[in-house]
Parts: sequence; structure tokens; C-alpha cells
Amino acid sequence: MENLFAAVDAYFIEKLVENDPVFDQILTNNQKYKLPPHDVSPSQGKFLYLLTKIKGAKRILEIGTLGGYSTLWFAKALDDDGQIISLEYDKTHADVAKENLALAGVSNKTTIVVGAACDSLEEMIQTQTAPFDLIFIDADKENNSVYLHYALQLSTPGTIIIGDNVVREGTVLDSKSSDRRVLGVRSFVDDLSTSKTLTSTAIETVGVKGYDGFTISIVEK
Ligand code: SAM
Repeated sequence: MENLFAAVDAYFIEKLVENDPVFDQILTNNQKYKLPPHDVSPSQGKFLYLLTKIKGAKRILEIGTLGGYSTLWFAKALDDDGQIISLEYDKTHADVAKENLALAGVSNKTTIVVGAACDSLEEMIQTQTAPFDLIFIDADKENNSVYLHYALQLSTPGTIIIGDNVVREGTVLDSKSSDRRVLGVRSFVDDLSTSKTLTSTAIETVGVKGYDGFTISIVEK
């Protein structure tokens, strides 16, 4: 089935996802610098683009930049006065992302903050950073609950919060997993389920990036 899922995804990518060569250039650049291929897929990137447009988002926070592939999808959906701030621990990843986003001509809309996301988020809260319209959590899954805690402080009613890679080929079901990323996702899902301010769902995905999924939540109050 996996081959079929990937083939169907490839069909939809060819039909429905713009063939802007800059996205391929970014992925080639990421390979050149030996970044891990953990970017969202083209279909998922287009989904993030559409969601940004549907929401009419002006301010986006991304936790986990890698080479800026998802950052570019968000940036392309933003109007000229929109901004995306993306947090990245690894300086090499951040440098490649900056190079990629300059190549794509969206540096004016993107800010890459280098450092541990927890520290950057704490700093943003201390400096009373304005709330975001959309927050994409896609870094070290062990810390997902911590990121959600901070995300809520940087939100306002109507903010959309997305958590990526929450299915992990079904291993999310294993409450006794020795994988800290699985336990991090389970803790995150527990927090979503008990939150008094969020309403959420999770969507499983298959395709060129295998079997995974994401959560999507909205801040209600
Ligand atoms: N959003 C990217 C995309 O789709 O193109 C993919 C992000 S990748 C899954 C996760 C990124 O989070 C990696 O670049 C990794 O270095 C970064 N990361 C891991 N731990 C982090 C931390 N504590 N703080 C900030 N970034 C971190």
C-alpha cells in the first residue's frame, strides 16, 4: 500500500501543487548541506499555505525551521505586511534556511531566531511579543507540551495551533514506548484533550513522506 499512497500523493502534487522551482532548489540546497530530509511534503506545504490564506494570517510562529521549506510555504501565503518568525536550534540549519529564504525573495517577511526554542519563546513572552494568528510546532517532539504551554501564551482567541508528526507510523499508540518523541507527542495530545481554551482534532496522513499526521487546534477563549 505504501507505494500506492506515495504514487497518489505524487499525482496530486503534479496536478495541484505549483511547480515553483524555488522549492526544489531549496530541497537541493538542503541536501548539499546534508540537512536531514524532515521537511513537510509538497502537499502538506500547500496545505499550510492554504490554511494561512483561509485564516488571513498576518503573524505566524514556526517552531523548527530546518532549511526553511515550510517557512517558505507560509511566507508565500502572507501578504506583504505579514511576518513569520521561525525558531531553530541548529546554527547550520538556520544559516541554510536564511540562504534559502533569500534565494526565494522572502527575507523581508521572515525572521529566523537561532537558539533553543524554549529560550526564544521565554524571551518572546518576557518582551510581550504580540500574539500570533497561526503557530506551527515542528521541532523536537519531546518538548511538544512545553511548546504548547508557550504557544498558548502567544495566542489570542482564533489562533490556530498545528502540531506535526503526531502519528509516527502508529507508534503514538504505544504508551510504554521507550522513544521520548512518542511520549512527547502523547503528552502533547493529553494536554490538547484537557485544554479548556483549545478545541482540536488530529488528521492521519499518508504519501511521499510515509504514514504520519498532524493535530490542528483553535484557541476558543
Ligand atoms: N518545519 C521544517 C520543514 O517542514 O521544512 C522541518 C523542521 S524539522 C522536522 C525540526 C527542526 O527542529 C530541525 O531543524 C531541528 O534542528 C530543530 N530543533 C530541534 N530541537 C530544537 C530546539 N530545542 N529548539 C529549536 N529547534 C529545534
